[in-house]
Amino acid sequence: MRLTVVGSSGSVPGPDSACSCYLVEQDGFRLLLDLGTGAAGPLQRYVAPADVGAVVVTHAHGDHWADLVDLGYLRTLPDVGPLPPLPVHGPANLRTVVRDNPTVYAVTDISPGTRRVGPFDLRFAAVEHIEHSHAVRVDDALCYTGDTAPCAALDELAAGCEVLLAEASGVRGTLRGGHLTAADAGQLAARSGARLLVLTHLRPWQDHGELLAEAAWHASCPVVLAAPGLSLEAPGPAR
Ligand SMILES: [Zn+2]
Repeated sequence: MRLTVVGSSGSVPGPDSACSCYLVEQDGFRLLLDLGTGAAGPLQRYVAPADVGAVVVTHAHGDHWADLVDLGYLRTLPDVGPLPPLPVHGPANLRTVVRDNPTVYAVTDISPGTRRVGPFDLRFAAVEHIEHSHAVRVDDALCYTGDTAPCAALDELAAGCEVLLAEASGVRGTLRGGHLTAADAGQLAARSGARLLVLTHLRPWQDHGELLAEAAWHASCPVVLAAPGLSLEAPGPAR
C-alpha cells in the first residue's frame, strides 16, 4: 500500500499544512484516514473527489473530520455526479451534517473489531480521547493512533505493525492528557516493533524539531515528521 500525507497539522491548520488527512492506496482503491480542517483542498492534488473510495474518521473533533463537508460538496457538483453515497466509517457522535445526509454519505459506526473496506482489512480499537475515539490498523502494515492517551488497547493494536503513524501533540510535561507526547509515540514505536515511526498531529505553535528529537530518543526505529506530500510504500498484507 502507499501512504501519502495530505495534512498533518494538529488542532488547527498551520501555515504550511491542513489538519490530519492520510491517503492510503492499494489496487486502485483510495481510502482516507481522517479528513480534518482544510484537507479537502490539498487532497485534490492526489485524488479526484469522485475517486475517494471510503473515509475513516477516528473521532468527532473537527481537525479530524470537518472537511468531509467540503468533500461531500465537491462530489455533488453537477459535472461530477451522480455518485453513490461516500462510505464513511466514523464515530457514533459524528455530527448530523454528515450523519443525516444519506444521499451524500453512507455512515457506518466504528467499533472495536475488524471489517473489510475495499482491499483493506481494518481493525479498530477504542482509545482514550473523547467519547467514541478509535485508533485504526490497516492490514499488517500501518497503524494510525488518531488522538489518544497511551493505553493498553492502543498497544495491542499497534503490535507488529510496519509503519506507526502516531500523533505527537507535545513534548513530555506539556499536555493535560488525552494525547500522546512525542516521548509516548517513541515508546509506543519501540514496544510495537514498528520499522518506521511517522509523527503527526503537529501543532503549529510547537517546535517540531523538538518533537522529533524527543520521539527519536525513545524509539528504536527511524522517526520522521509527517508533512504534506510525504509518500511512502508500506509493505502489503502477507497473503
Ligand atoms: Zn481530538
